[in-house]
Amino acid sequence: MRAEIISVGTELLLGEVTDTNAPYLSQQMAQLGIDVYHRTTVGDNEHRLVAALEQAQANSDLVIITGGLGPTADDITKQVVARFVNQPLVGDQAAANKIAHYFAERTEVPAPNNHTQAEYINGGRSLANSVGLAVGTYYYAQATQTHYVLLPGPPQELQVMVEQELVPVLRQSLPNLQPLFTHVMRFFGISESRLAALLADVIAQQSDPTIALYAQHGEVTIRLASRANTSAEAEKKLMQCANVILEQAGQYYYGHGADNSLANVLVQKLQQEHLTIAAAESLTAGLFQSTLATIPGVSAVFYGGFVTYATEAKERFLGVPHELIAQNGVVSQATAQAMAQHTQKRAQTDIAVSFTGVAGPGQVDGLPAGTVWIGLQFKDQKPQAQEFHWPKMTRQEVRQRAVLAGLMMVLQ
Ligand code: ATP
Ligand code: MG
Repeated sequence: MRAEIISVGTELLLGEVTDTNAPYLSQQMAQLGIDVYHRTTVGDNEHRLVAALEQAQANSDLVIITGGLGPTADDITKQVVARFVNQPLVGDQAAANKIAHYFAERTEVPAPNNHTQAEYINGGRSLANSVGLAVGTYYYAQATQTHYVLLPGPPQELQVMVEQELVPVLRQSLPNLQPLFTHVMRFFGISESRLAALLADVIAQQSDPTIALYAQHGEVTIRLASRANTSAEAEKKLMQCANVILEQAGQYYYGHGADNSLANVLVQKLQQEHLTIAAAESLTAGLFQSTLATIPGVSAVFYGGFVTYATEAKERFLGVPHELIAQNGVVSQATAQAMAQHTQKRAQTDIAVSFTGVAGPGQVDGLPAGTVWIGLQFKDQKPQAQEFHWPKMTRQEVRQRAVLAGLMMVLQ
């Protein structure tokens, strides 16, 4: 089953509107087990839309067209596709009633063309629009054995129509689809190329599931994907592969799930273990605590902390001895450890984290930008600290990376 998506709209070609429908449809089709081989964008122009339809008909079994179902003069998709498959348009009575009701309620007179929003291609199926007025169409052209789908342009209308109407229709019309199942694994503290090198053998030997690596915001994500008839069947293949990957790279792994994050995993872990946390932040000036606070339910584990930007603030707020900082430097192992130690004592939490570093662009005490010390104090244990070097990063990147490194240190 080869599919093509055609996005219709001059505004898309002008770059005024970003096409979010096509990626969304690609994801939905992948989940259904339908391969999208081509994506085309075309303006609101009959001639060029017909050319795109001819191309799509030659290449694909399923052609999904989004945009141009509205009542205005530039909305020509339905009329053009109907002519292309040699069918008239027919009215969907329920949709026509809905349009009449819509205008009656607003005591507005419908424009002469509003009734066209209730029309779909004869011989096909009307796809109801529970958000807007224009119906979609599913039409199977016997002669060329091509499935056509027409969807509205506004993303909120399209998405609901896909989920409520299109997915069930395609499942019914296209049996034998093998859906795609995925498992997303998340890593921190290793670059994409190093992780790829570490997993070179696994990746070379593996064809099902497929393994894809992506780097994003200082993290690396591995996406395992496999087609199967049932989720149980897929789960088995995905977990086997995930376990092999964990054997090689488990020390950098922190969790799974496309929407997961380090902060989320840490907060969950602290909740499970009934541990509380506080922080003292120089370099990151509250970014670590603010990141924790994005996670719902964090109040059970996050006590609070200090922003100790100036050297004197580390002494006054935390009680770090003046001599210790003077002797070791403000960006040092000793200072990071002392900051964490004093924070834990003041906050009486189970854990305290501290951040001190050179965000850049300039040097501090001869240390280059990107030098960071993160301290960690667990109650009744020896303080720890770890040094990081992130040269060539911007000031914001250093600060953000430090937050992630701090979250990962606590997790481990
Ligand atoms: P309407 O009834 O609102 O006119 P329509 O089905 O005719 O809907 P279009 O006129 O093509 O759709 O687009 C309406 C609006 O929907 C666009 O101005 C744009 O904001 C949004 N839109 C259209 N196509 C896309 C797309 N591919 N991705 C994201 N947004 C889109
Ligand atoms: Mg329109």
